[in-house]
Amino acid sequence: MNNPPGQLIVLAGPSGVGKTTLAHHLIDKFKFTVFSVSTTTRPLRGSEIEGVDYFFVRREKFLEMIEKDYFLEYAEVHGHLYGTSRDWVRKELARGGSVILDIDVQGALQIKEAFPSSILIFILTPSPDVLSSRLSSRNTDDPDVVKLRLEMAIWEISWIGSFDYYICNSRLEDSLLQVESILRGCRLKMLNTSFPPEVIAFTPERFIGLEHWQGKRVIVTSGPTREALDSVRFISNRSSGLMGCSMAMALRDAGADVLFVTGPACISGPSGVDIIPVETAKEMFDILASEAPKADLLVMAAAVSDFRPSAFHDGKTERSGTVRLELEATPDILKELEGTIDRMCPVMAFSLEFGPDGEKRALGKMKRKGASAIFYNPGDVPGAGMETSSNQGILFFDDGSHVEVKRSSKRYIAELLTAAMGRYLMKGNEG
Ligand code: 5GP
Repeated sequence: MNNPPGQLIVLAGPSGVGKTTLAHHLIDKFKFTVFSVSTTTRPLRGSEIEGVDYFFVRREKFLEMIEKDYFLEYAEVHGHLYGTSRDWVRKELARGGSVILDIDVQGALQIKEAFPSSILIFILTPSPDVLSSRLSSRNTDDPDVVKLRLEMAIWEISWIGSFDYYICNSRLEDSLLQVESILRGCRLKMLNTSFPPEVIAFTPERFIGLEHWQGKRVIVTSGPTREALDSVRFISNRSSGLMGCSMAMALRDAGADVLFVTGPACISGPSGVDIIPVETAKEMFDILASEAPKADLLVMAAAVSDFRPSAFHDGKTERSGTVRLELEATPDILKELEGTIDRMCPVMAFSLEFGPDGEKRALGKMKRKGASAIFYNPGDVPGAGMETSSNQGILFFDDGSHVEVKRSSKRYIAELLTAAMGRYLMKGNEG
């Protein structure tokens, strides 16, 4: 799984700001946290213990480890190499824990790149003088090294805007409370939690069918696609990706093994699933052609672009006069899959429709595309469709039955749709 359920919490900032104290406080305070012990080429200092503070290795060994792709991130800091073990972090994240990294800013930026859902916390002292006196009073570095560390701090501070949180470590008690609050807040965030069983307990009958998904392989497509006009411009649509992300979370929480194929959406993919980012309708088609034969269900929640520019201009088209755009239809993914692959899995499609004939058009689409079910959601009703956190509609099945879903949050609706789809497929298996 390339987006495991655990969370990476990165404490970064210049040397001497107190990151290590904050990191160890979190480890002592919360059972769900683990500390990532880095590997370094720096010599061991007085009270440090091998395997507790760092794994100390020679430079040649570290370079060998880089060659073998041992590190998730690494950086040269004040003349020494430091790095984080990729396998160890992945293992801990797969177990669902919060992994605390106490690393430099270069490393933090690499982590954000590899794990966009990681939480970066920037720690700083209240003034340059405080940092300088903290570094000098540690008595671990000679004055030249302290000077080097202060120079490096100015570069590190310039990356402040790439961080999610900022703590000024003035009074330690305040900083400890602040860093605890960040961790607590992250754990409680709806986007980071499984669907609460307490919610299901209020109306269990609505959620019958969720049990069908245990151990099933499901592909969920999400977000808009983009079709390029030139190197900087594209045509796309208003899909935020929230409905697709909510479907992926509902299926994940029901025990499915989820592959999330997403166009460039505002909502990043949920944790605990495999994520494949795509840009165009063609890229999405290619992934589905290889993955759909192995799946138990394909949820087509993506708003795939129906048209693309007939020609692509390499570079940036100059502003001048009138530009005429010629568009051509993109491949109808479901129809093309049918003709391309040997085995197609059941499909649950989404159909955003405008006007009074919306239902009829959605039903026509279900038939044309050979889908087992289609969720018709109106685009012209306030609070439904694209760019809203809520939705409503009707889930039609190919046996003529349907389930109506009243307006509520997309996350709740995804849970209802997942249950209804599970009930439908279970009924088919019985019959
Ligand atoms: P120190 O030598 O004082 O223990 O650490 C020097 C700097 O290296 C600190 O900013 C510390 O956070 C950073 N550092 C420690 N381990 C790692 C690591 O694994 N990766 C990166 N990028 N920096 C690290």
